[in-house]
Amino acid sequence: MTMQELTCDRCGLGVLVEKFSPAHTSIQWESDTSECPVISQGNPATGVHRRECNALRDSIDRAVARSVLTETHLDLPAGPDLPRLH
Ligand SMILES: [Zn+2]
Repeated sequence: MTMQELTCDRCGLGVLVEKFSPAHTSIQWESDTSECPVISQGNPATGVHRRECNALRDSIDRAVARSVLTETHLDLPAGPDLPRLH
């Protein structure tokens, strides 16, 4: 487990992120999620409160693109002879 610190570009809240693959991201909030305006606001049209922040998702994607955030690969043996799992 290697959690990396990241801040949401929009609300500036700090989270701990671990990225396993493009599709699998583990996010641990360092503060209450209600402090994120995106999450606390919910969707005004439906009244549904989101449990995640799109801005944070974008921030994570950007961090990955800039190699600030590196994907944690599960400790599988790697090599050219091994079949690719993904
Ligand atoms: Zn946010």
